[in-house]
Amino acid sequence: MDFEFSEEQKMFREAVQGFVSTEIAPLVKEAENNEEFPVHLFSRMGELGYLCPGYPTEVGGGGLGKIGDCILVEEIGRLSCDGIAAGIMAHIGIGTLPIHYHGSETQKQKYLLPAIKGQKIGAFGLTEPNAGSDAAAIETTYKKEKQKYILNGNKIYISNGPICNFVNVAATMDKSKGHRGISMFIVDNDTPGFSWVKMHKFCDRATSTGQLFFDNCIVPGENLIGEEGKGFRYLMETLDGGRITHGARSLGSTEAVFDATLKFAQERVQFGQPVASFQSISFRLAHLATEIEAAKWLLYHTAWLYDQGKPCTKEAAMSKLFCSEVGQHASSEAMQIHGGAAILDDSVIHRYYRDCRLFTITEGTSEIQQLVIARQLGIR
Ligand SMILES: Cc1cc2nc3c(=O)[nH]c(=O)nc-3n(C[C@H](O)[C@H](O)[C@H](O)COP(=O)(O)OP(=O)(O)OC[C@H]3O[C@@H](n4cnc5c(N)ncnc54)[C@H](O)[C@@H]3O)c2cc1C
Repeated sequence: MDFEFSEEQKMFREAVQGFVSTEIAPLVKEAENNEEFPVHLFSRMGELGYLCPGYPTEVGGGGLGKIGDCILVEEIGRLSCDGIAAGIMAHIGIGTLPIHYHGSETQKQKYLLPAIKGQKIGAFGLTEPNAGSDAAAIETTYKKEKQKYILNGNKIYISNGPICNFVNVAATMDKSKGHRGISMFIVDNDTPGFSWVKMHKFCDRATSTGQLFFDNCIVPGENLIGEEGKGFRYLMETLDGGRITHGARSLGSTEAVFDATLKFAQERVQFGQPVASFQSISFRLAHLATEIEAAKWLLYHTAWLYDQGKPCTKEAAMSKLFCSEVGQHASSEAMQIHGGAAILDDSVIHRYYRDCRLFTITEGTSEIQQLVIARQLGIR
């Protein structure tokens, strides 16, 4: 364990904390009630240089690596809400990374650079009604005609789907070829044949989530990302890094729910003493504090490995698994410790409880993370 935050990363955390408290936290209630991401945040954060801390400075990012991305989403989750962290994360990670890694110069100029400035919003379309964990089973098809590709099919649960300017879409040329048939395309939101419907959720209500439809959607040849048939590799690569950022998102909400619960338990008096003084409560808080500390170390050490270019597939899956499960445990304990106070509609505790429930499902379920870890341990 030989890593520490750089001065720039520490300063970035402080700056982001200030920004989240003053400019994001006041938006949460309305965003949650309306089930709409406050889209102006993209341009505002882009203007201030807070949107894409992980991207290299040459493309307009902050040059702070994966650790920078983790700091950003952790602080958004911790000081405002997970729905907003999720919308930002979908944009800075899965919504733009395939273009950064494999896009042509023209694609970078047209999509990546404006996205880093917050002038365009990105999304990532992989999941389908019949292909969730089994990503190679996608049924959205493409066929090549002259210099164009024609897409047909649909994608579900797509974060930023209803608000995006473009979406990276995975489609197969021939389902019988499995993962070798998959390619990735950039689809503009105004492409004829592209449409979406909003999906309403019990959690993360501040993210705009949608089902996307491609009905003879004609995509210009230059919107193919990288090479044909290599899309599955690009998808897996994108998701590897996304697992680390997802861990940070879980960590942020977990810290928030823990801080609120500790405060509540010290203030709520029953039988003439704060409920935190009852051993059964204090031990639970002690246990949660320990889990959070362990999650933080695992997560940031993994982000550091990633930034050093060291292999970290196993650690990334462990971070995603552990941080999300700690989040679920903490939010469940928080409900219990708050008693009836957590049940009310306007209680933030029950919002965290709902949001934390999502963590073990999105970007690869806990079962899939365990599968990845087991394979890394040599178990087949
Ligand atoms: C709010 C939200 C936002 C999302 N955003 C996006 C997005 O922006 N882009 C995108 O492409 N997708 C997105 N997703 C999709 C998400 O990644 C999938 O929901 C997730 O990968 C799981 O797929 P599934 O829901 O179809 O579950 P399924 O794959 O149907 O799994 C059902 C259950 O079976 C288990 N299971 C499946 N396979 C195995 C196995 N081999 N071994 C053991 N257990 C197994 C799973 O762990 C789970 O418990 C989002 C989902 C949600 C809910």
